[in-house]
Amino acid sequence: MTIDTSGKWWVGSEPTDIAEYPEAYGSDNAEVHDFRLARCKCGSISFLLDADDDEGVARRTCTACGSEHLICDSEEFWDEAQPERWACTECGSEAANIGVGFSIYPGRGGVRWLYVGERCAACGVLGCFAGWKVGTGDSMDLLDKV
Ligand SMILES: [Zn+2]
Ligand SMILES: [Zn+2]
Repeated sequence: MTIDTSGKWWVGSEPTDIAEYPEAYGSDNAEVHDFRLARCKCGSISFLLDADDDEGVARRTCTACGSEHLICDSEEFWDEAQPERWACTECGSEAANIGVGFSIYPGRGGVRWLYVGERCAACGVLGCFAGWKVGTGDSMDLLDKV
């Protein structure tokens, strides 16, 4: 993977470059221990992304088949949320690769917090659109709900 940090925005050559981005972004200075790239049931990794950073929710919609998925524990708070649609700051595209990074308690004892990162599917610009605290011990299954 290659990340070009020379310009105004970070540009990733591959979807998995999302994993490298938010550590520099440095939310809470907490370490990211695990990362999962979102992949639709149909195999696509291109999504529309709606998120509310205040409520801590995010939803992805597959650009290939239209399937919607509430990311990780978003379902719990989705009803109160006022999500915004992500669009690339550089090129205006709404299609993105999405990945979730997890900060995990010692001994894999639950998710402390997570972030939803994205990479523009058109031009490669990397970003972090939302992130929230989880902070419960029985939350390791969220790694399978990206
Ligand atoms: Zn799909
Ligand atoms: Zn773009």
